[in-house]
Amino acid sequence: MTQPAPKQHWVGHADLDAFYASVEARDHPEYRGRPLVVGALPGHRGVVAAANYAARKFGIHSAMPIAEAYRRCPDAIYLPPDMARYSRVSRDIFRILETITPMVEPVSVDEAYLDLTGLERLIGSPETIGREIKRRILEGTGLTVSVGIGPNRLIAKLGSEYRKPDGLTVVHPEQVPAFLSPMPVASLRGLGRQTEKIFSRLGIKTVAQLRSLPLSYLEVQLGKRAAANFHQQALGIASAEVVPGRGRKSISRETTFEEDLLDQETLHAVLRRLTAKVAATARREQLSGSVVTLKIRFAGFETHTRQHRLTVPTHDERVILREAWRLFLHGKLPRKPVRLIGVGISDWQQPDSEPTQADLFEPPQKREKDDRLLETLDRVADRFGKGKLQLGYATKSERRKLR
Ligand SMILES: [Mg+2]
Repeated sequence: MTQPAPKQHWVGHADLDAFYASVEARDHPEYRGRPLVVGALPGHRGVVAAANYAARKFGIHSAMPIAEAYRRCPDAIYLPPDMARYSRVSRDIFRILETITPMVEPVSVDEAYLDLTGLERLIGSPETIGREIKRRILEGTGLTVSVGIGPNRLIAKLGSEYRKPDGLTVVHPEQVPAFLSPMPVASLRGLGRQTEKIFSRLGIKTVAQLRSLPLSYLEVQLGKRAAANFHQQALGIASAEVVPGRGRKSISRETTFEEDLLDQETLHAVLRRLTAKVAATARREQLSGSVVTLKIRFAGFETHTRQHRLTVPTHDERVILREAWRLFLHGKLPRKPVRLIGVGISDWQQPDSEPTQADLFEPPQKREKDDRLLETLDRVADRFGKGKLQLGYATKSERRKLR
């Protein structure tokens, strides 16, 4: 008997072009073709949240101080962000993407991965699917999207970045090496400042150069884990798994320490950082979890998990952190140096379920206000990189540093 041919995976990455600015131009035809900047207003403190392509020609980009943008182009149209409107458009976009496949994994308000495997019979070739995604988004929302399609997530993402705006790039498996070769190593995922420095010291500029180096050499330079990661990426090897937002069972983050850690203040600070990421993902996917899980590993892979069930499901990092820390302190865990710490939430609330008893103890206005604050934080984080803004509960040592 012959073995069936292995199934070809196809992953798509869709990314709206200059999303906030494009929504403004769509809703105000008189702005079209003119440089347009969404963000703080000139004369005020603050930064650019989004700039359209006409404004980018002046060198204006996201996170640039608004004063600098104004200096470069005083004639641009400057608008404050209208987050409620952008969220509505975002929901339309996801609804349209789900007409292509239910396997849509949201990355941010205007970005998603799609599992396109097996759609050839239904829609057509990857090129046809890509054109179809673009057509449906344009007809449904009046906005352009750049789409990358390839055998895995890495290639799909690089594909959508390859030609922007309004791009479509399909990379077939046999084209992957040639597609990656000329790319700067900086286009690879997870390249931190430290690794960037090492690459530049070694004179590695392109993916082709990186690929030509033996893994053993990279291991000496970068350490085992990073070496394996970048070696794989240089070969175009990456996950093809797409996790649809509603399909996932839990959201969790964990981190392993290079040296085992006993200091509670540091552990609390790390847990807070992980919790912020978990909560941001949950909010982006509009999920609220009822169970908080803490995971702790000590030297020698001795691993413990502790769980707490909440009366009210949450995506609030303050609640998750409070419960996770309570589990750490009172979960009858041994007092030993910690190798790994992780936090997660699970057991989603049905979005349309009745409020539970405990909700009655908190006035609804307050909950809405909290949600708005958290959403604003998410958007700032999406735009300007994580870690710039956190809710105010600094640890003692951080407070000392701030003084
Ligand atoms: Mg975008």
